[in-house]
This record gives sequence, structure tokens and C-alpha cells, in this order.
Amino acid sequence: MTTNVRKLYLITLDPVHIGTGGYRLGRVDNTIVREVGTRVPKIPGTAIHGAVRHYAAHRFGKTRCAGQRDHCGQDTCPICYTFGAIKDNRAKAGVVSISDARIVLFPVYSMFGPVWITTPERLKDAGLMDDSPTPEDDKAIWSNGLTTKESINLGWLMVEGKAESFNLNGNIPDQVKNRIVVVSEALFTHIVNSNLEVRTSVSINPETGAAEEGALFTYEAIPRTTILWMDVVVRDFKDNFPSRENWEKIIQENELPDNPDEWENLPDKIPEHEHPVEKMFRILGYVDERPNEKKYEDREDFEKAMKKYWEEIKKSSEVLKAVMKNNNLNWEDPFDIVIFGLQWAEHLGIGGMGTRGFGRVRCLSCPSSSQETPSETTQEDQVAPAQMSDSTSNDGGEG
Ligand SMILES: [Zn+2]
Repeated sequence: MTTNVRKLYLITLDPVHIGTGGYRLGRVDNTIVREVGTRVPKIPGTAIHGAVRHYAAHRFGKTRCAGQRDHCGQDTCPICYTFGAIKDNRAKAGVVSISDARIVLFPVYSMFGPVWITTPERLKDAGLMDDSPTPEDDKAIWSNGLTTKESINLGWLMVEGKAESFNLNGNIPDQVKNRIVVVSEALFTHIVNSNLEVRTSVSINPETGAAEEGALFTYEAIPRTTILWMDVVVRDFKDNFPSRENWEKIIQENELPDNPDEWENLPDKIPEHEHPVEKMFRILGYVDERPNEKKYEDREDFEKAMKKYWEEIKKSSEVLKAVMKNNNLNWEDPFDIVIFGLQWAEHLGIGGMGTRGFGRVRCLSCPSSSQETPSETTQEDQVAPAQMSDSTSNDGGEG
């Protein structure tokens, strides 16, 4: 068994709201999930696990393995292997656990532009800095060069302090690294909670698509450009991960050419005897058994089931072709599967699923999903402090 822990850093691209009542919007005056004790908002690991599984399954064209149950449950399925499976009410454990994502760098306004507040404890826990300068209670220490003045406003709160140099590890963008303000944990909690996004929205009637009367509600959210960290732990007790190489072997064993472009088209007419690819798609968890005529009383029902089954086989063939031709999908260990899911969270978001323009987070320590065009994602556009100016409702009171 191999155990592997990796720290991942996330930056929010949208306000992120993970409600205490689940991860959908809809309740009036929603509050968000918080750390016990400190009351600082967090993103629960369960919410990340669910979203990441969902997106990773779709990248494999395995819709059935995306949800919370009725998975394919095959040992050769990278999704079920990584995140676990529930099939026929039997559960198989996965090999990955994802911790809550905790805030380490939180954006607030100051007279010197946006700054990111943090604490010595958080920098240490996040693996960013072991020996951070520690400010006295109610005081602050900020990055060299931020200001020569002896005080700074953090939102509406004026705090005295001084400058020092910080050397942060990790893949934190320079724009953030050079604009850090370290405060005590008590001050951090206070500033974070008075600078959350508070937004007003209306409930939409799903039948009419119109706003429900009197359904105005407010909700709070973690603002854009907040940086969080989480631990992803892989305990691979099975030590038999179905890598891309394994899939290639299975495909070859079923007498298909290496090159997916050379795969023959499957006949429209259902073959009387099992075609080799049927076994392969079963092993890979794309389809279940071929319908058994003996289990059907009615010949017509059987034929219907058979037709449906063959459509699935043909669809799976196209899906698998696309997966094997996609050079961005190269999976060597369960960790890669988590990354596949996180890469889509950058576009589709976590929390408030089904709500557009909400909850997008970018993994700062993951390879980009568009590896073939790395020049398009430069450090410059990783964080755009200008983005912050349109979050006008980031309001701590007096402003
Ligand atoms: Zn599966």
C-alpha cells in the first residue's frame, strides 16, 4: 500500500457559497459552512469530493459513475477505484480522501490596493511558511514595499504595524505574495467575517422561470481571489490502479488496433454472438451484461432491451475512442483523477451547482487542462486584482 499526501492550493474565481443546508442555493438568508471554533468559512471536503468525482467521470464519458450511487463498480474503472462505488446497495471504498479547503489568504481592500490577510498559524498549516513573523495582538506585519506608513486599513478597520519580508513556498501568484498582511487569528476571524460577499438574489420558480414573489433572499459567500489549501490523501490499499497503460492493454487483448482511428465501425445489426468489444466495454464499466433472453417473458421486451444495449455499446465505442485520443487525459495514479475533476471546477465551479457564474475555483498547483497551449495561461492572468473591483457588494459596513 502506498500513502501519498499532497497539498493543493485553490483560488476562487467567483464568489463561492457552500451553504450549511447542502450545496445548492434556494434557502432564504443562506449562511456558509464555517470552521468549528474559529468561525472562518471553509469549503467542506465532501463538497469538493462530490464535484471532482462528477467532473472526472464526465471526462471519461462515464455518466453512470458521476453520481452518488449506481456506479459501474468495476476495479478497472478509474473513477470508482479512486472515489469508491455503490452498486446494488454494496459499497466499495475509494482510495482518496479530500480534506476541507481552509482559507489561508483572504482579500480585503486597503488604501494601498487589495491586500491578502493571513496568520502565522495558517501560513504554517498550509505549508507556505514555517517561521512567519508574528504580530502582536491587534497589530499587523505586511510585505516589504507595500507601504512605509505605520498603519493600514483592512476593510474599514485601521491597524498599526510594520513591514517585513516574507518568503512563501507554494504556487502562490506574485501579485498576492507581495501584498500580504499577517494578523492574529482573532483579528483574522473578525476581518474575514466582516468582509464576506453578501449578495441579494431571488428564488426562481422552476416551472415558470420567473421570480417568485417575495422570494428575495441574501446569502454570503467567500469572495473572489481568496486562496485556500487542502490535503488530498491517496491510500492505495489495492495497489492496482487502472492506469491508461492498463486500459491500453485491455483494449489490445480485445483485438482492437492501438490507434483508435483504425477501430472498425460496429455493425448496425446486433451480432448473434458476443463481439469481443462487448466484453471489453463490460470490463471497463461502460455497459452491463448482454440482456439474457431467458429473463424476459415477452420476446418484444427482450428485443427492446437488446436494441438499447447495442446502442449503448456503439455509443461507448465513440466515447472510448475520444478518451483514448485525448492526450490531455493521461492517468497514472488516483491523484491524476482528482486533478481531472479539479481542472473542470475551474470552468464549472463547485457549490451552487447549476447556477451560472458561481463557485469557479482554480487549482494553483495543478497542471493546466490545456497543456498543449501553456503560453495562453501566463502568471499575469492567474490573478487579476482588477477583478475585485466588480465585487461591489463586498461590503464590510462603512466601506
Ligand atoms: Zn465506475
